[in-house]
Amino acid sequence: MENNLFFYNTLTRKVERFIPNEDGKVAMYTCGPTVYHYAHIGNLRSYIMEDLLEKTLRYLGYDVKRVMNITDVGHLSSDADTGEDKMLKGARREHKTVMEIARFYTDAFFDDCGKLNIKKPDVVEPATNCISEFIHVIESLLEKGYAYESGGNIYFDTSRLKDYYVLSNQSEKELLVGVREDVEEDGNKRNQSDFVLWFTRSKFDDQELKWDSPWGTGYPGWHIECSCISMKYLGEYMDIHCGGVDNIFPHHTNEIAQSEAYIGHKWCNYWFHINHLNDKAGKMSKSSGEFLTVSLLKAKGYAPLAYRLFCLQSHYRKPLDFSYEVLDNVGAAYDKLVKKIGSLEKEGEIDREQFHLYKEKFQSALCDDLNSAMALTVLYDMLKSGMSDATKYALAESFDQVLSLDLTTAHALKETERKVDDEMERYILDRIEERKKAKKERDFATADAIRAELLEKGIMLEDTREGVKWKSVK
Ligand code: AMP
Ligand code: ZN
Repeated sequence: MENNLFFYNTLTRKVERFIPNEDGKVAMYTCGPTVYHYAHIGNLRSYIMEDLLEKTLRYLGYDVKRVMNITDVGHLSSDADTGEDKMLKGARREHKTVMEIARFYTDAFFDDCGKLNIKKPDVVEPATNCISEFIHVIESLLEKGYAYESGGNIYFDTSRLKDYYVLSNQSEKELLVGVREDVEEDGNKRNQSDFVLWFTRSKFDDQELKWDSPWGTGYPGWHIECSCISMKYLGEYMDIHCGGVDNIFPHHTNEIAQSEAYIGHKWCNYWFHINHLNDKAGKMSKSSGEFLTVSLLKAKGYAPLAYRLFCLQSHYRKPLDFSYEVLDNVGAAYDKLVKKIGSLEKEGEIDREQFHLYKEKFQSALCDDLNSAMALTVLYDMLKSGMSDATKYALAESFDQVLSLDLTTAHALKETERKVDDEMERYILDRIEERKKAKKERDFATADAIRAELLEKGIMLEDTREGVKWKSVK
């Protein structure tokens, strides 16, 4: 398949043409959330931009298989195997078990993704489902001499590699080595850059989740999760691996080290990283500054899709500063945009030539290192142009396969929602939750009864890839 898609590859430090291993197919992996708390809108910036990449690939005609892990074990508060276990911290905070916390925040994560029209990956796999796979890979690394046992834990021996810091340039490398020398290190390690594959001597004696292993009862390190889960579903050759820039080191660096040591050849060709969303205190995080979630934005009156538009307006490789003032402006621009599209007369003849011309322009913008701001400019130019309403409407519908801003439906929805008061909205959302639960328990009779009851009240439910949506059909 011919294409002109270019994007920045952290591995080669260049904007490169994308060529998948298998013609027409893309094997894509995304580091999923650590489910000890809600995702903040910084995390969600990364997932919005990864969604944009996936949808661009699909728009260009690729058959994409995307896999995501759910980190429900092994992630310590410092990515470098030190500090407190994040899941345990969440469980203590809420007086719940780790698995209760994991289930609750996994559901909350996908609810937020639904509100932002982020497509759920084809495969979502919690780390705790794959313990035997982790043990198998660690055993093989020990056999091959890439890992060693020390003080009860299993470590990866980074000195066995020609170049461990493959994702960093020379000056970054020097900096990383320097930082590592300053840190008080785990005395069991042979080299300061070695990392844990399996913990048995946990600092946390009350660690809830532990499994038997050939090296004693314990639990996996965070990095091994992503290597094993991606290989389980995508095999030994991967096209694109994504994450936020904070994942480059040590997480992705360690993933490459252990995966390539295990399979004995190059693993993933393209590494796609999204820069951070910052607040006044710097990189937005769950532990500092205002903890900004989609629900909080909604409660303050912002449409979640206005936040998606805010993200799409800036380039994924640039840091993005969050402020309510800017979001106010973007929210107003979003309302205006969907109102304009909502007022288009959609019936009528489509000018095929104009349609293809603008579709080309839109694709070219995306193919130019995923220039989403330029793709939005093409949308605005198209709406300003003199072509027929029907052509504009068809183009907006087409562009929305990638932008996912509900361009053609948001205005009508807003109008009907206005007819439904707050109390009714809460009732509808509760009923949707109950229906979801019934479906999960395979109680389809209850699920159908809820749908019928809401329809009776003039509310129609629609199951979409991004979750359940509702509209008033009174
Ligand atoms: P976590 O739940 O901490 O494992 O992070 C989930 C994803 O969000 C990872 O891909 C991180 O790299 C990314 N991430 C974390 N903080 C930010 C931020 N402030 N802006 C953008 N992405 C972030
Ligand atoms: Zn990962």
